[in-house]
Amino acid sequence: VRLDAPDSPSDSSSSSSSPPSNNSSSGDDGPDGSDPPSSSSPPPESPSSPQSTSIQRAAIPDVYPQVLALPIARRPLFPGFYKAVVIRDPAVVAAVQEMMKRGQPYLGAFLLKDQTTDSDVIADINSVHQVGVFAQVTSIFSANTGTGVATGAGRDDSDRQEGLTAVLYPHRRIRITELVKAGGQQPTMVTVENVESTEGAQEPTPPPSPTEGAPLQTSFLHKHDISIVNIENLPTQPYNKDDQHIRAFMAEIVSVFKDIAQLNPLFRDQITNFSVNQVSANVFDEPDKLADFAAAVSAGDVQELQDVLESVVVVDRLKKALLVLKKELINAELQSKLARDVDSKIAKRQREYYLMEQLKNIKKELGIESDGKDKLIEKFRERAASLKMPEGVRKVFDEELSKLQGLEPAASEANVTRNYLDWLTQIPWGKHTPENYSISHAQAVLDEDHYGLKDVKDRILEFLAVGKLRGSVQGKIICLSGPPGVGKTSIGKSIARALNRQFFRFSVGGLTDVAEIKGHRRTYVGALPGKIIQALKRVGTENPLVLIDEVDKIGRGYNGDPSSALLEMLDPEQNTAFLDHYMDVPVDLSRVLFVCTANVLDTIPAPLLDRMEVIEVSGYVSEEKSQIASRYLAPQAKEASGLKDADVQLDPAAVEVLIKYYCRESGVRNLKKHIDKIYRKASLNIVKELGDEALPEALASASADSTPSASSPSSVVDTDSASTPESVSTPATEEKAEDSIPKQDEAEDTTVTTEQPRPLKVPDSVHITITPDNLKDYVGPPIYHKDRLYVRPPPPGVSTGLGYLGNGSGAVMPIEATSMPGKGGLQLTGKLGEVIRESAQIALSWTKAHAVELGITDDEAKQFLAERDVHVHMPEGAIGKEGPSAGTALLTAFVSLFTKTQVNPDIAMTGEISLVGQVLPVGGLKEKILAAHRAGIKAILAPGANRADIEENVPQSVKEGIRFVYVEDVREVLHEVFKGTRAQERWKETLPL
Ligand code: ADP
Repeated sequence: VRLDAPDSPSDSSSSSSSPPSNNSSSGDDGPDGSDPPSSSSPPPESPSSPQSTSIQRAAIPDVYPQVLALPIARRPLFPGFYKAVVIRDPAVVAAVQEMMKRGQPYLGAFLLKDQTTDSDVIADINSVHQVGVFAQVTSIFSANTGTGVATGAGRDDSDRQEGLTAVLYPHRRIRITELVKAGGQQPTMVTVENVESTEGAQEPTPPPSPTEGAPLQTSFLHKHDISIVNIENLPTQPYNKDDQHIRAFMAEIVSVFKDIAQLNPLFRDQITNFSVNQVSANVFDEPDKLADFAAAVSAGDVQELQDVLESVVVVDRLKKALLVLKKELINAELQSKLARDVDSKIAKRQREYYLMEQLKNIKKELGIESDGKDKLIEKFRERAASLKMPEGVRKVFDEELSKLQGLEPAASEANVTRNYLDWLTQIPWGKHTPENYSISHAQAVLDEDHYGLKDVKDRILEFLAVGKLRGSVQGKIICLSGPPGVGKTSIGKSIARALNRQFFRFSVGGLTDVAEIKGHRRTYVGALPGKIIQALKRVGTENPLVLIDEVDKIGRGYNGDPSSALLEMLDPEQNTAFLDHYMDVPVDLSRVLFVCTANVLDTIPAPLLDRMEVIEVSGYVSEEKSQIASRYLAPQAKEASGLKDADVQLDPAAVEVLIKYYCRESGVRNLKKHIDKIYRKASLNIVKELGDEALPEALASASADSTPSASSPSSVVDTDSASTPESVSTPATEEKAEDSIPKQDEAEDTTVTTEQPRPLKVPDSVHITITPDNLKDYVGPPIYHKDRLYVRPPPPGVSTGLGYLGNGSGAVMPIEATSMPGKGGLQLTGKLGEVIRESAQIALSWTKAHAVELGITDDEAKQFLAERDVHVHMPEGAIGKEGPSAGTALLTAFVSLFTKTQVNPDIAMTGEISLVGQVLPVGGLKEKILAAHRAGIKAILAPGANRADIEENVPQSVKEGIRFVYVEDVREVLHEVFKGTRAQERWKETLPL
């Protein structure tokens, strides 16, 4: 026996790795899990303990002819690598225990050919591979329980079904030469050959002669029912380490190791462990060990592993080891790929989840509602579901909604989209109010709201009748034109009420921005849709009545023309698909009833006017005004002032005075203001006179009482933070004062309440009548002192013209002319416009041209104004005047001046004149006539061409008491104005008609 150091399970190999798997072997289905970890296994037992001294060290018998044969299942053992096996067979257990006791812990481990079987005893030599390993049992444990036998447990456990875990350290390759004993039966032909004794670890026994049959150190095994085999060593064939083949194989194996290590961290640990522990004998330097290592760590095919074990030629072994290792690599690659795939799948979802959670938390921290967006989207969906959106709009809606879903709520884009969706879902697609075309209902409503206006109401009823027959009033635009305050807006409201439509009003006066009508593009910050879309949103129905105020004052835009945009909106031909810039989807406006109001028609763009049904609302005459005042304005004002049940009377005579000396406009707005003022004043007077006793004010009076009786408020604050004296008045104040800083001025403290104030009843003892005498107390001194500028007959040179003021009302305008020494110049004052100046020149020229006929001079050749200047003035000087219609009046004034003949101030005139004395038609007659009516004018001289206009369009009520004289030529004017004067007598010959 030789002592063999290199193969010893010394410190170098004691902690080397065992195969990664399959470390259970024999034993009947023993649970693998109970195997102790090999790395932590106790040091090999007695004879070869690593801690042993040098004397005892590494006494592995080199020749060991007969051993216990242990069949190993599933994978072969490789020299140099620990392996734990579980032994179940009681006989084998007993034998191993005895072996340990006796210090002969060596056995042969052979791989079972049939992988499904498992046994601790080899019954048939052919059931195992002939090549196995010679292994040392380094330690044993009880396999079932932790408490079991250690090294030398008693034998009492033999009948128990208790296994044994044995840690094996294979030393070298061996081959079975003969099965000596197969379990219970003694094979007959068993012969013990080549048995060498290795009694005593250190003492080499002399090689036994085969014939001797001397008892072996292993002879004790024979009394156990185990398998015993004769073996021979299977040494590796000598090789040259520097052989090119070998080196190449080794390099390849090392590189594959690296690859696997990269993929499989567990494997990497094993290799590092192993190589660190193999410092003394570098495994990477020894080809045969490297091959074993490769095979040992690979979980390859059993047969292939066995092949590695069986090859004794190093190159062969390396080749085979490389094969299993490569397979291992492929396996590892596949595994890692699978792992990666699964990982990435899980990781992605996981990541998303975590990020979302994080986002939620961040938002919560920032106070941004995290699921506000979902709610919003839900809200939009709900809204859209209740609407009848057209197909195209629905598509846009869906697109925008999915866009919003994808956007971060904080993004500015999201804001834009959200606003847009808001608008899109606020337009009342398909929602409308049922219309009411009942004529009687409409009549009732109109009469209820407005006095008079018969023509207007008739027009509206006609309009409704058509609507009733057609089933809709689509495609109609009503335009109410007339001076301010005549009720255009309120008529519009009444129409809406009569038709049972929603009402929306907006004014386009002075509007210059097309975007007001057409909307802004969505890209602008703060973009909004146009007015009409806003109107639809506001009213919530598709068929409102939209009142467009002041269409005549629509501005001229600087970029784009608002009136064209308005036309697009109003035009029934176009507005079935009105395209707002903001909405960007066509909106059907054809069901909207448009009503426009205007003061004058001249400034309305012609294409717009063309499409309108103009209804003129003229101003009111005095009687109408007083009716409106007593029937509508006064009761409304009375109620609004809280005097509904009080005895406050407005004398009709006072209303007359009001109309005559305070409110001369053709509208009633100013009158309404005055009446409101009267009732407000009356309320104040009542409250003042009756005092607080008669109209007790619960809280206010209480605090008012307590304050003077208590000490001064400031002292209250100073002493004890307003607790005692204030508690009398209001407990609320006290509480407030206590937990807040005391205020400097306690009297300022106000009680806060949500209680609605109750109206107070005016006592029956109150009687007030407003008469012309006390009217001044209510509305101040009259604005107009007299009906006309001239109370007494004016001097020659003054005539009465009729003007049309810019605000839509007419006016009676006196014209004064005078002459003085000078150089024949003409001076004009009174803020006169260019046209009116020219009119004056024409009038003067005509007068000069006809001076002889007029009897001003007696010589054709004489220039009668050579040394005189003429000055014309038109009061009131502050009011600008323009237009040609003062021609006749100017001429009359000149003739009056030069013939020194007075003009009857009851006669007013209007009309443009031409240089040869023709009278041309003028406009604004209705307002002028109204003004004349108010001023008490008895006769009006108007151009003949205006006759039809006056007779048809001016209400009879307005014309009442006025004599109309239609004139074609200035001569007629003069004859009419100066009728009965000396001058006129002369003209019968000199200036015949
Ligand atoms: P406009 O729009 O023509 O300038 P509004 O419609 O604002 O005038 O009318 C001013 C006020 O005069 C309103 O309070 C309205 O009720 C009242 N009003 C006008 N005409 C009448 C009328 N015929 N009957 C009763 N009230 C009237």
